[in-house]
Amino acid sequence: MISFFGLLLVCAGKMAPAQSMSQDPELAVLAYNFSDASPELMDRAERETQRIFGEAKIHISWIDCPIRKVPTANSACFEEPVPGQIRLRILKRPSEPRFRDSIFGFAIAPLFATVYFESAVRLTRISINAEIDLSIVLGCLIAHEIGHLLLGENRHSASGIMKAQWELKQIQLAMMGSLLFLPEERALLNSHARQRGNMPRQTFSTNSQSDAVLAQNPVATRDLGKR
Ligand SMILES: [Zn+2]
Repeated sequence: MISFFGLLLVCAGKMAPAQSMSQDPELAVLAYNFSDASPELMDRAERETQRIFGEAKIHISWIDCPIRKVPTANSACFEEPVPGQIRLRILKRPSEPRFRDSIFGFAIAPLFATVYFESAVRLTRISINAEIDLSIVLGCLIAHEIGHLLLGENRHSASGIMKAQWELKQIQLAMMGSLLFLPEERALLNSHARQRGNMPRQTFSTNSQSDAVLAQNPVATRDLGKR
């Protein structure tokens, strides 16, 4: 989770398993967009998230999933999760009104990363003097929450993209493309990304029931328990 102006912020993300041509670990991220973010905005945000993980030599393969089952959907979108997979949800806002000004997202290991779209929008208004690209902010929030799935649900750093509180400085760094994982975090991310594809299938299937609940009822999140 991440905070902003002293407010709590928890992020979400997406990824998957596999081996790329370069031997870099690959994360398969299934993205479910329940928000007002347009497909174009989501595409730009995903590219920013990919760029950030690319600094850790991790490739993300994105699968954009519809929120309701349709014949044209990738079959993986509605199947049981497989080891290494990450499911990213973009929700409009926190379900609890008392957190709407503070929570940016949350992560539930090993599978779920969630980002609140309205929180990304709010961060773009942090400065009245600078134009802030919403897709970049959203991509950074996604990277933060996926980072939690690899580094630990509660792990934060004093600086970099895993900082718990985001203020103007973090947004300025994001706009410069410099809000990144720290070197030690990149090494851990890369190592954990390689291991995810080998995780026991049971690790994921044991979460499948809650996954199904979350997928069917995105508002009934468990974010209160992750604070
Ligand atoms: Zn966080």
